[in-house]
Amino acid sequence: MKGHKKNFLPEKTCPTCNRPFKWRKKWAKDWEQVRYCSQRCRSAKGDSG
Ligand SMILES: [Zn+2]
Repeated sequence: MKGHKKNFLPEKTCPTCNRPFKWRKKWAKDWEQVRYCSQRCRSAKGDSG
């Protein structure tokens, strides 16, 4: 059921900088695929490791 009224936003940990980042509205439709906190971290992947 939907309709929960919580001040809780989903959170993920960025594998590049290892920092937790929270849901943002701009990710509303892509959240499940978002893995990095920022474009910079996203493009930094594969740099080492
Ligand atoms: Zn990051």
